[in-house]
Amino acid sequence: MSLNLKINPLKKWLGDYKYPLVISGPCSAESEDQVLETALQLSKIPNVKIFRAGIWKPRTRPGDFEGVGDIGLLWLKKVKQQTNLLTTVEVANPMHVEKCLKNNVDVLWIGARTVVNPFSIQEISNVLKGVDIPVMIKNPVNPDIKLWIGAIERIYNAGIKNIGAIHRGFFIYDNKVYRNQPMWEIPIELKRLLPDLPIIVDPSHICGNRQLLSAVSQRAMDLGMSGLMIESHPNPSKALSDANQQIEPSKLETLLSELIIRKQKGDIDFENKLEELRSQIDEIDLKLIEDLANRMQVVDEIGKYKQENKITVLQLKRWNTIINDRLKSGEKLGIYNDFLVKILELIHLESIRRQTNIVKNSKNI
Ligand code: PEP
Ligand code: MN
Repeated sequence: MSLNLKINPLKKWLGDYKYPLVISGPCSAESEDQVLETALQLSKIPNVKIFRAGIWKPRTRPGDFEGVGDIGLLWLKKVKQQTNLLTTVEVANPMHVEKCLKNNVDVLWIGARTVVNPFSIQEISNVLKGVDIPVMIKNPVNPDIKLWIGAIERIYNAGIKNIGAIHRGFFIYDNKVYRNQPMWEIPIELKRLLPDLPIIVDPSHICGNRQLLSAVSQRAMDLGMSGLMIESHPNPSKALSDANQQIEPSKLETLLSELIIRKQKGDIDFENKLEELRSQIDEIDLKLIEDLANRMQVVDEIGKYKQENKITVLQLKRWNTIINDRLKSGEKLGIYNDFLVKILELIHLESIRRQTNIVKNSKNI
């Protein structure tokens, strides 16, 4: 995939801000008092630059609180008058966009349920043509990086250069620990493909609870992500949506103060030592690839041998022995069991694929 988007850095559209950028505010705007009280408290936290509030809420089931609607935009105007915070609102259709623009919302964000639908994203992009407003794009609910990139491209093609991505985790059927699985490999790949794109992590929707917020925020910082979006509410357990995951602004302040922020780069000694270690890794990786290639050659020989003797490719007894033996060796060497199982399964699958291909190809001879 070749991507050549010239996305502006956060500084360009935010002006001065303290790293990490923090976006906070309630899941949903519920009342003028709740909105203003939250905003006032948040405005005292140096990292908080943008105030978020959902006004039109995409709820899974009808009858749940679906947001206060247009009146919330007037409350957000007051937030701008009474604090130095910028405001952001979730938009899901052209009408939402137009209302936000009319009411001077500073930043738009597109939610996970909207990003799954290219028709919706295209409609939103169409009304954004010629408009100068930053847009943040959450990942789609399902772990599909192309769908996420597609939405970013559609907004970019509308002429918007001030774009941010929001990583809010992915729905998987059997979620146990997280509300939405972080699958860090996906935002990391997004960063590799679009190095200029700021990625803001949303620990609230990843965790779905308050307990894990700190750990997920710390992970985001360790990965060098650009910012955090964390939901806050003056009385979280009474919130009309996402009551389990919101925190009081004071708790947000504590959470932020406890984060360990790493530097992107170290001093010259650090960089030299890092280079030395990296060249060791390069050599080891090369050796791993050579060893894998050697292993596959032997696999091919075994495949031919089995074929000549009309023996099935899959040999469960042998596979069990491999798993048990290798896990024992791995354990002694301090390699995490689940990790080794995944690697062995991959190697085994590839070995089977090669052996069955030999059978298939030889039919033509
Ligand atoms: C939200 O931010 O409140 C929200 C609805 O998030 P998501 O689109 O990530 O589910
Ligand atoms: Mn929410």
